[in-house]
Amino acid sequence: MSRIVFLNGSFLPIEEAKVPFMDRGFMFGDGVYEGIGVLNGRLIDNEAHLERLERSLAEVRIPNPYTRAEWTSLEEELVRRNGMAEGFVYFQVTRGVAERDFFFPDNAKPTVAMFTQAKSIASAPAAETGIAVVTVPDMRWERRDIKSINLLAQVLAKQAAKEAGAQEAWMVQDGYVTEGGSSSAFIVTKKGSIVVRPLSNAILPGITRKSLLRLSQEAGIALEERRFTVEEAYDAAEAFLTSASNFVLPVVSIDGRPVGDGKPGPITKRLRELYLDMARLPAIAAE
Ligand code: PMP
Repeated sequence: MSRIVFLNGSFLPIEEAKVPFMDRGFMFGDGVYEGIGVLNGRLIDNEAHLERLERSLAEVRIPNPYTRAEWTSLEEELVRRNGMAEGFVYFQVTRGVAERDFFFPDNAKPTVAMFTQAKSIASAPAAETGIAVVTVPDMRWERRDIKSINLLAQVLAKQAAKEAGAQEAWMVQDGYVTEGGSSSAFIVTKKGSIVVRPLSNAILPGITRKSLLRLSQEAGIALEERRFTVEEAYDAAEAFLTSASNFVLPVVSIDGRPVGDGKPGPITKRLRELYLDMARLPAIAAE
């Protein structure tokens, strides 16, 4: 079966899904996107992802082509048509197709493209072994709170990480970690508190981060919402990242230095379990 994608109102085989040459997503990176995890065929934290989409679209002044209920049924239909039990739903909205010119076009219709990527999340080997990260300068623009499709800085950051033998880049500004190339960054202090950077224009408001903070609070784990330096991360008891396509992943080395004893830590493991339990019961989690 060929992969089915959604493009501008139609479900069709990926080979037939064509975007016009003058799409502003292609020409300017003029668009925003979302990515949602799927477990047991169900979308995880979908309402919060759609809320973030609405905000991203409003910030860049692209009209939202669908209601939340319409978005949800498109996502569910795509998951169903691809028979995907576990993985990721990606979609992007660009400002549409128009002759190349910086000004907003008068009558362009937003382009909507959506696809699925099957992926093992719950039993990913990286969750057992943990991953390595390396730090790189954060070279992005000043509105990182918008989930823009402009990902060149992250492409370069993550490629640098790969070439250094790591799986993720932690981006650094003024000595403080902002976030991962495609994930939120956390450390755990020796006293057992979670440390995460507060929301601002400097980072994307991660949806997995938001759920994780709620779950950690319910579990009585102390939280320090503040910036942390690279040196503090080197010296942390544990480190981990969160994202919709990985949930919670232990970070066991930073710039080649082992974090703690170099194995996934107990608080990280507990948080991953709590997140998985929530993801397995999305109806309850949505309350
Ligand atoms: N930060 C950045 C820069 C990201 O690209 C992502 C993933 N899209 C995240 C954080 C994690 O966000 P979420 O938990 O919503 O996937």
